[in-house]
Amino acid sequence: MRILIAGAGGFIGSHVCDRLLGEGHEVIGADNFLTGSPRNIAHLQGHARFSLIRHDIIEPLDVAGPLDVIFNLASPASPKDYLAHPIETLRTGAEGSRNLLELALRNGARYLLASTSECYGDPLEHPQKETYWGHVNPVGPRSCYDESKRYAEALTMAYHRRHGLRTHIARIFNTYGPRMQHDDGRIVPNFIRQALRGEPMTVYGDGSQTRSFCYVDDLVEGLVRLSRSEEPWPVNLGNPEEMTVLEFARMIRDLAGSRSAIVFEPLPEDDPQRRRPDIGKARAVLGWSPRIGVEEGLRRTMEWFRKELETPGA
Ligand code: NAD
Ligand code: UDP
Repeated sequence: MRILIAGAGGFIGSHVCDRLLGEGHEVIGADNFLTGSPRNIAHLQGHARFSLIRHDIIEPLDVAGPLDVIFNLASPASPKDYLAHPIETLRTGAEGSRNLLELALRNGARYLLASTSECYGDPLEHPQKETYWGHVNPVGPRSCYDESKRYAEALTMAYHRRHGLRTHIARIFNTYGPRMQHDDGRIVPNFIRQALRGEPMTVYGDGSQTRSFCYVDDLVEGLVRLSRSEEPWPVNLGNPEEMTVLEFARMIRDLAGSRSAIVFEPLPEDDPQRRRPDIGKARAVLGWSPRIGVEEGLRRTMEWFRKELETPGA
């Protein structure tokens, strides 16, 4: 197949590229490197079946030749990034999604949207099922991300209904692994960097808020299966192993053999109190569930960060 991956230079996008190239497909990456890094795909330079377009998906995009599948993974994803780029984030979810949906329509390609558990906001239902409509502040600081994804989901369903486009919506829960930017402000890069350097680990609030962490290889498997399914409705992809942020800090400190202090800093506005996917639908429809436990995933991620942090300028 010939597959376009928007956001190919990002953390998740680069792993999707590796997976699909490994299966023998032709992959075209598109990225404007707003939040990703050319380093994530440097190893693909010169690969016979890989090419890269430097492109901002807010602008219309044409790709010569046929396309079978489009993965739309392009969007700032970490709170630090989208708070720094609120308008770009909204435009990427809105105009960017539309440009890629139009491209899918012209090519008769399948389209997969990387949506997010943020669609559930600060959820009143726990764990979260796909049928839950969410509890989102439409004007808070996180709204630029949450609402861009909610709009992108609505637009995807409109193209599916109006044009019969074969579309898929993955609601991705916190995912981590090698190639996250060490300074993107998310919990995994922050805690691992702090623990490895023996610096204080910054727990926001009292650390009682929860998250559920999925290793990137598991997520990629779920995305690929979804893209080959006949499921147009949203599907949660994540690991239901739920932990408090404080427990997570202690686990990372122990795994790193670190003596970092744990310090408490203010909780960011509208930080969701709890988050855990109900993955019953992914199990039933895709036969998918995560295979890699959080300790094993953190070990692999930490090994990668150890080397990454040794590189000059990190
Ligand atoms: P990332 O920032 O590493 O990757 C996103 C990539 O998209 C970057 O390379 C960035 O440069 C690119 N991009 C952003 N705006 C663009 C634009 N207008 N045009 C072209 N490229 C653009 O983030 P990630 O963690 O790899 O996330 C990938 C996708 O998965 C995002 O859509 C994100 O919303 C979604 N997601 C991720 C998580 C997670 O835990 N990592 C959770 C939920 C949803
Ligand atoms: N967090 C933290 N310390 C950090 C970074 C994040 O305590 O240095 C907390 C944050 O407040 C949130 C959770 O970790 O409750 C996950 O944050 P992240 O930014 O990774 O993603 P989110 O799930 O909020 O989108």
